[in-house]
Amino acid sequence: CGIVGYVGKQKASAILVEGLKRLEYRGYDSAGIALLENNDIEVMKKTGRVQNVAELIYERDMGSQIGISHTRWATHGEVNDSNAHPHMSWNGKLALVHNGVIENYEGLRRFLEGEGVEFLSETDTEVFANLIAYHYDKEEEGNSVDRLLAAVRHSTTLVEGTYGIAVICTDCPNDIIGARKGSPLCLGVGNGENMIASDVSAFVGRTQNVVYLDDGQIVHISEDDFSISTIGRESVDPVINQIDWKI
Ligand code: GLU
Repeated sequence: CGIVGYVGKQKASAILVEGLKRLEYRGYDSAGIALLENNDIEVMKKTGRVQNVAELIYERDMGSQIGISHTRWATHGEVNDSNAHPHMSWNGKLALVHNGVIENYEGLRRFLEGEGVEFLSETDTEVFANLIAYHYDKEEEGNSVDRLLAAVRHSTTLVEGTYGIAVICTDCPNDIIGARKGSPLCLGVGNGENMIASDVSAFVGRTQNVVYLDDGQIVHISEDDFSISTIGRESVDPVINQIDWKI
């Protein structure tokens, strides 16, 4: 029911936990975080309160400066730890968080299983993660970030339903990709750091500069840069809004 992603110079875990806590009012049944460090993704997720995951995260005390996080309101698959987000792709390449519902997930899952992909959860979301990883493997043009963007674009044309997503990949140590259709997503433009979230309240205390994404848009953020484009590859001129947190 909520997404927060962070890339910058600070410890991502504390910022993500803080962001998730600010989204708690939206309601949720589980929460989780994926941190990227040394070309490896670590996922921590648990049913219940954000605080349950926060305890796992603080025990590990990872210095990672990039990560994605999620509060889940289950629609497909019961409420348990393995159905909580983030979901890793079967090959360990990427992690994804998702708000919304993928209506054609059963057909896509059968296709991917036919290609040898293994599933660990009952969610529609894991299908999206594996679909992007499957197409990422097949992309040949450009560097890792170009290939990840192309795989996200391609996958969004194959899924039916609603989504706000954030994706990280072991080959892209400084990049988060987000996309939306029918679920909210916005970009917080910081100083030497950038964030994406389903709700601007996740940015309180970090930045006042916010771009609201539209349906059919894809956003790419790194520590000191961001770009927005459409699924059809057209670039989008961002409109940066100043939020006054005092109101
Ligand atoms: N459909 C997904 C699930 O059941 C996402 C739910 C949400 O928006 O939190 O895991």
